[in-house]
Amino acid sequence: MIRFASLSSGSNGNCYCIANDKTTIIIDAGIGFRTLKKRLSEIGVAVKDISFILVTHDHIDHIKHLGSIAFRNSIPVIATPAVHKSLDYHPCTAGFLSGLVQEVIPGENYEKEGVEFIPFSVPHDATETVGYHIDFFGERFTIVTDIGRITEDVIRYSRMANHLVFEANYDMNMLMDGEYPRYLKERIRGGNGHLSNDQTALALSRICHPELRNIFMCHLSEKNNDPGVAYKTVSGYLNKSGINIKDNLNIECLPRQTLFYKEI
Ligand SMILES: [Zn+2]
Ligand SMILES: [Zn+2]
Repeated sequence: MIRFASLSSGSNGNCYCIANDKTTIIIDAGIGFRTLKKRLSEIGVAVKDISFILVTHDHIDHIKHLGSIAFRNSIPVIATPAVHKSLDYHPCTAGFLSGLVQEVIPGENYEKEGVEFIPFSVPHDATETVGYHIDFFGERFTIVTDIGRITEDVIRYSRMANHLVFEANYDMNMLMDGEYPRYLKERIRGGNGHLSNDQTALALSRICHPELRNIFMCHLSEKNNDPGVAYKTVSGYLNKSGINIKDNLNIECLPRQTLFYKEI
């Protein structure tokens, strides 16, 4: 049995977990050690079970506690060379990752502790940002978070997934009518920021295939989105595209600051 958990998703912190009885991996470490320990224990996983951490990029909501978590438990940290270089100097990670650094190149295949994965580049305004396609003992996951626009790589790696973690950051009307300053609105929707519900919905209508069983929408904005709005937008697009989401496909929004857990 494989367990997928979202320990936190959004600008307050991001951390996802995929585990079976032998291997546990974490994607990003934007939550504190105590929260990590508590939420993992709720799904029957101990911190000492973590085999390695995959890092998508060096924004604070993804790496705030990476240094302390990796250091305290000697967990290998996997990221691209550019991100590792940035982490060497980042106050949250500098001095903590010695001996734990493992570099990966976007587009290359890797195998570690029985888990196969491929990082792939996505457009976002960090040092360098990747998504991950992960073959976890036969169940295939693709993680696409913090991405400014859809690329053919995003479509390709997402189409390989049985379980998709995919950003739906903002509703365009809520963003434009909301209280964010103009420069921030432009940053979010400018092609190197985040995905709107419409962009996500359109991409998902291209991505859906018979073996896709779960879509977990992630990184929803607190101010500029709402789980009901995101779900309605995506399900509306998919229904219009003739994709029957009731039969085999489960779609849900990941909560921002509470544990979400599903047995796969
Ligand atoms: Zn983020
Ligand atoms: Zn980011």
